[in-house]
Amino acid sequence: MTSNDGLFERACHHIPGGVNSPVRAFGSVGGIPRFLERGAGAHVWDVDGKRYIDYVGSWGPLILGHAHPAVLEAVTRAARNGLSFGAPTAAEVELADLLCQRMPSMQQVRLVSSGTEATMSAIRLARGYTGRDKLVKFEGCYHGHADALLVKAGSGLLTFGNPSSAGVPAGAAADTLVLPYNDVDALQTLFAQQGDRIAAIIVEPIAGNMNLVQPSPAFVNALRTLSQAHGSLLIYDEVMTGFRVGPQGAQGLHGIQPDLTCLGKVVGGGMPLAAFGGRADVMAKLAPLGPVYQAGTLSGNPVAVAAGLATLNEIAAPGFFETLGRQTTALAQGLCDAANANGTVFSAQAVGGMFGIYFSPHPPTSYGEVMNSDRAAFNAFFHAMLEEGVYFAPSAFEAGFVSCQHSAEDLEATFAAARKVFAQIAL
Ligand code: PLP
Repeated sequence: MTSNDGLFERACHHIPGGVNSPVRAFGSVGGIPRFLERGAGAHVWDVDGKRYIDYVGSWGPLILGHAHPAVLEAVTRAARNGLSFGAPTAAEVELADLLCQRMPSMQQVRLVSSGTEATMSAIRLARGYTGRDKLVKFEGCYHGHADALLVKAGSGLLTFGNPSSAGVPAGAAADTLVLPYNDVDALQTLFAQQGDRIAAIIVEPIAGNMNLVQPSPAFVNALRTLSQAHGSLLIYDEVMTGFRVGPQGAQGLHGIQPDLTCLGKVVGGGMPLAAFGGRADVMAKLAPLGPVYQAGTLSGNPVAVAAGLATLNEIAAPGFFETLGRQTTALAQGLCDAANANGTVFSAQAVGGMFGIYFSPHPPTSYGEVMNSDRAAFNAFFHAMLEEGVYFAPSAFEAGFVSCQHSAEDLEATFAAARKVFAQIAL
């Protein structure tokens, strides 16, 4: 028994399913997860010493790759001064200023420790601000694991075919209205019927939790105009897309000003940090200024803030997103070429440093289309690529991520592996 398999067996004794977050368990693709020991740049090594080209990047945060020297240096310096104070620090003021500069829709921001906290808090704030209860979300979008949001959520929940979750009281989700992604008619109908009861729409402005699904321009515009017309708030959940698809996230690409934005992943540079922010009049409702309660012992943690600041500083380098976008597009194109050469039904697309690969003829535009892709083919591809030393997310419903450390050689090695794998498994 290898040490990886031995570790998994041991992990299962005291950790449910052997993992601390469900999609890590390889439940969708089968087999045993790799226990990772080390990462550097675009690569990770498992406990058996095998190296992989990593396209998971800790599920999005690692836009600078693993163990980036500037982030390590910032984290180490901050840690030497103390790990946590539970009191304000200068660094968190600097990060708040920077976030509001970089995201024009944000006039004020509050730091939290996870994307789940950010979305959960933004929704409470939207309800407190509007005095309304109803929330609109979209099928296949994941916004963290708060009760009201575990309704037809994506990724891990799609993977496990569990559209909701046990343990969520019916009442907690009763005010969550779920619509199909990219369906403008459904949105118009809902707002015509109950627009005056809707506190907020929460949306992944480029969905990354049902694989990568892009919104149509008409959908994006309808979200903004309908919410505005009915006095509901528009919450862009940019936990995944923020500082990932472009310097101003999806809202920069769409030319949209949401009322509230949730950030996570990249903003913490691999440390537990997230944020929500937006219009000053809305944020003014938050405690201690206003009646909407929200708090956190480790919110704005100085070590996490240091990692975030260092990351935001690096990605501000001129041409950063152009280069990252070129590399990610080249990855998507190269994988399509490898599949085409073998006659495999396959498609791929990239936005900034995020990509989707699909065993379907075209990139999907809705949850329904995502579910029609060939999942068995993905699973075979995933395992064969893993053997070849290429680490994609262990689920057909996840987006992938490229870092600025992925080199032309990494891409070439990925294509060589893909050519071999497409032929080998004769999909
Ligand atoms: N929102 C989106 C769009 C996400 O992708 C995620 C996590 O993947 C979350 C919220 C929840 O973030 P966290 O896992 O940090 O709680």
